[in-house]
Amino acid sequence: MPKKYWHWIAISLTTMLSVILTIHLSALPPALAQNPAMPSVNADVKPNQSLRVVTRLIKPFVFEEGAEIVGFSMDILRNIATELGFKYTLAVQPSVNGMLEQVKNNQADFGIAAVSITEERNKDFDFSYPFFQGGLQILVPIKNGGNSLFSLLSNFFSATLFQVVGLILLVSLIPVHIVWWFERNHKGGLVENQPYFPSIFTVLWWVLATLATQAEEMPKNWVSRVIAIFWMFISVVFVAYFTATVTASLTVQQLQGSIQSENDLPGKNIATIAGSTSANYLRKNNIQTTEVEQIESAYDLVLNGQVDAVVFDAPVLLYYASHGGKGKVQTVGSVFENENYGIVFSPNSSYRRQINDALLKLVENGTYQDLYKKWFVRS
Ligand code: GLU
Repeated sequence: MPKKYWHWIAISLTTMLSVILTIHLSALPPALAQNPAMPSVNADVKPNQSLRVVTRLIKPFVFEEGAEIVGFSMDILRNIATELGFKYTLAVQPSVNGMLEQVKNNQADFGIAAVSITEERNKDFDFSYPFFQGGLQILVPIKNGGNSLFSLLSNFFSATLFQVVGLILLVSLIPVHIVWWFERNHKGGLVENQPYFPSIFTVLWWVLATLATQAEEMPKNWVSRVIAIFWMFISVVFVAYFTATVTASLTVQQLQGSIQSENDLPGKNIATIAGSTSANYLRKNNIQTTEVEQIESAYDLVLNGQVDAVVFDAPVLLYYASHGGKGKVQTVGSVFENENYGIVFSPNSSYRRQINDALLKLVENGTYQDLYKKWFVRS
């Protein structure tokens, strides 16, 4: 082929390729086609603008101290506002659902408290980067010395104890009857020539006394003596087993109570917050719950013995156990169902990007660490 034809073929191929590329690029979704660093088309936070923030009281993230509303989340909010130079008004809702409603109905620009980021909520809302890592935990009352005799006795007379004693009484009927049979016909035997009643009780007494390693008399017939040796051996094993089981269960129950992890929750009555992620978890696992609106009411229920435990956000429970509830309650088991708290916005909110930037800045300049220490690390 002559050289000038190659030249024309190359020009037409290049033109075709650029036309195809142009068509493809213009068909891409705008977000991909644009430079991702470009600012959002929506209005950003303007200096001195006043934003409407919704919250809910949940110690230590948000709570009242005199006329002020303070807490970890309030400190985060104040620092973000300073960083971005906006002012804000606070509206307090009684529950997380109330907060979400306000954000949804555009009565608030965003919400901040201890709102967990969940897949379900993410369908209707946008969240900031997580600003606190938590999860669920269990809170139980500390058994105090005042009623320890009662609780000791109630622990002692457990269903297991009755089962063990019942079983051993039943089993002991075997040696009772063998020994009675051979002793009855033996000269000078335990129950020589006596009718079934009451002589059977005499042998029963001997069998139980042997079980407690306290028997005084011994059977005379050789068959009943062989049985006696077996029975004495069983008695030693039984006493050892009984002592070990009872002491171990008493120690564990006295130290930790009957709830030690989330596996012990079924069959117990648990208090939690209505509409929370904990209520969701308990419902999914068919655990009986008493739902209240404020966490303080849940603490009252567990302290008054109306429920067995409280299941709720670990940082909230841990804070209570080391402050207001110190010496009265304790958390048991490890944190389960990990979850993170975020600031909640309506979908595509124009404030999210800047607030996320401010959050990152607080982490990078050490402010976040200082606030974390202030609220969650004992000095
Ligand atoms: N973190 C839990 C949730 O978002 C509970 C928050 C609360 O009750 O304030 O469901």
